[in-house]
Amino acid sequence: MTIRVLVWGENVHERTNKAVASIYPTGMHSCIADGLNEDAGLSASTAVLQDDQHGLTEAVLAETDVLFWWGHAAHGDVADDVVERVAAHVWQGMGLVCLHSAHFSKIFRRITGAPCSLRWREAGERERVWVCNPQHPIAEGVGPCLEIPNSEMYGEPFTVPEPDETVFVSWYEGGEVFRSGLTFKRGNGRIFYFGPGHETYPIYWNEGVKRVLKNAAKWAVNPLGRWQDIDNAANVPVAEAREPLQVKGPKLHEEGEAGFR
Ligand code: ZN
Repeated sequence: MTIRVLVWGENVHERTNKAVASIYPTGMHSCIADGLNEDAGLSASTAVLQDDQHGLTEAVLAETDVLFWWGHAAHGDVADDVVERVAAHVWQGMGLVCLHSAHFSKIFRRITGAPCSLRWREAGERERVWVCNPQHPIAEGVGPCLEIPNSEMYGEPFTVPEPDETVFVSWYEGGEVFRSGLTFKRGNGRIFYFGPGHETYPIYWNEGVKRVLKNAAKWAVNPLGRWQDIDNAANVPVAEAREPLQVKGPKLHEEGEAGFR
């Protein structure tokens, strides 16, 4: 099975900042997708903020196994109804990989239900991304740690819910540490947050980072697809109970009544 990945990019700093444009001349989303497409098991395409409905229509999401999200300067420009649409797909089983400053994206805060704040410093310092569990699928082939020569420091406290698993912990030259690789599950959707990815450094060209993103796409996919019953609260009539049942006590609703209780 080929995993269908959609890489969503905000596509703002690539067009407005010379340093970012020189590193990512065709956009960060394109670089990330190209890296994923090195793997024959992955088929990655892209969508950007400026597309109609941000490129995240119902039809597009229905054909997406895993959505990657990179945003920074324009989180507030993402329409709330699109965020709700993406969240529904995650609950139904679409994988979601949130990268770097997407910690503050509407979708990551919506799906984790938390502020997702952190400390930061832009000093081009060294980051070591330490592997917490070498047998975790997302860490496969990474070795003991990833060396990122120039990175933006992201530091604790990172106000996310306690993750299901901490896959990576980062150390920075300035002394801080950060839980930089975290997994969550919401509904049927698998979610991975990955810290590295500041736009003024060539982090998505880093071979180790590309390996992590390929691994993350394969981990986040739900091979059974979507379960579509998220918004349905169906009444089960007494007569349809698996065992004979006598109604006891007063009732608020009619038998077989549709909708919410
Ligand atoms: Zn950054």
